[in-house]
Amino acid sequence: MSFTKLALIEPILKALSAEGYTTPTPIQEQAIPILLERRDLLGCAQTGTGKTAAFAIPILQILEAEKGPERGPRPIKALILTPTRELAIQIGESFAAYGKYLNLRHTVIFGGVPQHSQTLALKAGVDIMIATPGRLLDLMNQRFVHLQHIELFVLDEADRMLDMGFIHDVKKVIAKLPAQRQSLFFSATMPPDVSKLADTILRKPVRVEVTPVSSTAEKVKQAVYFVDKTDKKRLLIHLLNDKAIESALVFARTKHGADKVAKDLLKAGIQAEAIHGNKSQNARQRALTNFKNRQTRVLVATDIAARGIDVDELSHVINYELPNVPETYVHRIGRTGRAGHDGIALSFCDAEEKEYLRDINKLITKSIPVVDNHPYPMETAAASSGTGQSSRTQSGNGANGSRGESAGSDFRGGSRRRFGRR
Ligand code: AMP
Repeated sequence: MSFTKLALIEPILKALSAEGYTTPTPIQEQAIPILLERRDLLGCAQTGTGKTAAFAIPILQILEAEKGPERGPRPIKALILTPTRELAIQIGESFAAYGKYLNLRHTVIFGGVPQHSQTLALKAGVDIMIATPGRLLDLMNQRFVHLQHIELFVLDEADRMLDMGFIHDVKKVIAKLPAQRQSLFFSATMPPDVSKLADTILRKPVRVEVTPVSSTAEKVKQAVYFVDKTDKKRLLIHLLNDKAIESALVFARTKHGADKVAKDLLKAGIQAEAIHGNKSQNARQRALTNFKNRQTRVLVATDIAARGIDVDELSHVINYELPNVPETYVHRIGRTGRAGHDGIALSFCDAEEKEYLRDINKLITKSIPVVDNHPYPMETAAASSGTGQSSRTQSGNGANGSRGESAGSDFRGGSRRRFGRR
């Protein structure tokens, strides 16, 4: 299947080809025709599935067809609401890329920076606005933004919006939208509160679902290291001393933890930076750019800061600490193994985190293979063997073939060769 089958206009096809896209991803293949028919959409898809293009391309095509005057003020016709600044910026970049042969204007609105340049762009007139909820409400209250001409509304990463406590802001924005509109709702997971929100926004939506949790987990090669908390730092440095790890996104649970890990790595001579919500927008953006340009080899992030980090060919994700919510594990490892590339996810598990590991194994319906031969094994033999055991018994009848599997000792470089990564 190629993009030409999707009835897209020439300037968009040209832009996609310039981006190097040849084949639509499953969500694009399913969602684009539905959206061009002007139906509402409920998309169950996480970042990494190509969902941004799945909504950006039809929005551009629809607005191009009804294009107004070339110059002067124009009403905002499409609004994309997304939870983080990083996501907003990335969505803006996608609109710029896919719309580069069109004359539509878009702008990105987010908090944590002065509003002046944002209000200037709004005054000049934009067709498409990408915004985080807080700053959007601010600008609405100051009457810089009016939503009465919105024809297309996208709520992106709805589950994160709720997690991050934006529900009231989101509802306030929705209350200002015209009733007559096309709405798109994306969420990686659909717990009851999220689907309730979807019901209030969508009208007779078509539901499209891609990459369920288990398939993400299958794509990425995973291994777990049982290690005492006090040895995690040494184990991380030991692993990163292997140059086969070209770039790694390391997850820490807290902002303070992320800073500390980055400092430890720097002391050990490993290029690392931390990214989290306490840093200024500029510092975060800089860290991200350095990582994307491969100037920084290791980026240490908290979960919220890492949302939307989109680095092509990220080779490794390392869970320095395991998340207590198992879905978060799947979100994290989904940062690697993108678009058909192999990825590797390594996790450190200390005695206190064993129950998190059990929950993760249950969610992904397999036991993450254990690296049983590394320089910093858990002190207590009982702890180590006990965990190996519990991890293995999680695989139940072993139908997935991982029962008792050991990842061996050379998972880093060895795995790359074994799994045939480029
Ligand atoms: P997203 O899920 O929107 O964050 O997209 C994930 C990544 O896939 C981004 O780096 C996109 O540039 C890339 N991408 C999206 N659609 C395609 C496609 N059809 N072919 C190749 N890459 C794509």
